[in-house]
Amino acid sequence: MRPWEANIRRVVPYVPGDQPKGSRLIKLNTNENPYPPAPGVAKALREMDPEAFRKYPDPSSSCLVEALAARYGVDKERIFVGVGSDDVIGMAFLTFFNSEKPVLFPDISYSFYPVWADLFGIPHKTPALDGEFKIRPEDYYQENGGVVFPNPNAPTGIFMPLNQVEDILRHNRDVVVIVDEAYIDFGGTSALPLTEKYENLLVVQTFSKSRAMAGMRIGFAVGHPDLIRALSDVKYSYNSYTMNLPSQILGAEAVKDQVYFQEITSRIIATRERAKERLGALGFTFPDSMTNFLFVTHERASARELFAALKREQIYVRYFDQPRLDNSLRITIGTDGEMEALYAFLENYL
Ligand code: PMP
Repeated sequence: MRPWEANIRRVVPYVPGDQPKGSRLIKLNTNENPYPPAPGVAKALREMDPEAFRKYPDPSSSCLVEALAARYGVDKERIFVGVGSDDVIGMAFLTFFNSEKPVLFPDISYSFYPVWADLFGIPHKTPALDGEFKIRPEDYYQENGGVVFPNPNAPTGIFMPLNQVEDILRHNRDVVVIVDEAYIDFGGTSALPLTEKYENLLVVQTFSKSRAMAGMRIGFAVGHPDLIRALSDVKYSYNSYTMNLPSQILGAEAVKDQVYFQEITSRIIATRERAKERLGALGFTFPDSMTNFLFVTHERASARELFAALKREQIYVRYFDQPRLDNSLRITIGTDGEMEALYAFLENYL
């Protein structure tokens, strides 16, 4: 080993989903939106003057923060924006989880959480989901240094009703509780209004799914101004400037078009409900998803083999090579046409 290698910080890295290229492929593996961003985004992009790129962007991303404040009816001081919700959640781990006590998150959940915890040296404990893949609120009543969970959860898609979220909040008044609402716009009810009632609640959302802008990397958090100020202090100290200028401008445009947002989210929800019927008829079982994906199992098909067979047909879904997940596939809801191609393949395969 070369001497400097001893000084390298070693982590088990987060493994992002494949981003295969090709015009023929059907990409149902990373929960992207199958529809384009709001029309105002394309217009603003065409009107963008590269001369503006010469200067640093507004470090506080005020145009985006103001658009979000107007959309969600909250004060600007209660909003923090970041480079995707990954950036926001990572900063929140660094800012709020500084206890000797373990941070709690579900054992089956967003696989970035243990990576951040390990990277930042944060002790953590992962209560198991129940037999139906549900989070048990009472597992989060034990002493801890913080709580984080997605709602709906990923990759199960299960939404926890807000009264249970409140049960967790009531038992955790001394720590910061992060609710990661990456998939909230597909039928769940946001905990965002609860940030007025619980000063220790941080709700995080993303533009990557319901707003069809994963490539622009935009996420945000809503919470008490003291939480937001603490996050900003860490953020600026850690990676100085925040969002690039196009993301700020185009993100603000996306937020303004609520009609288009409603249209594409309703369309995805309708396609998902049809997918439940079609996949159910093919013998798949799945938790009742409130997201833009289904987490499916088939008692007669190996998930690993089906994943490989679909890939040969240029249909990409997500396979997780880990205990309790390795007999299931996570299938993103695409357009109706893409889903029909999937059903056609499955009808032949099974
Ligand atoms: N949270 C959850 C539960 C997710 O599935 C994802 C998407 N991979 C994210 C956060 C991060 O999304 P983004 O960084 O694109 O906003």
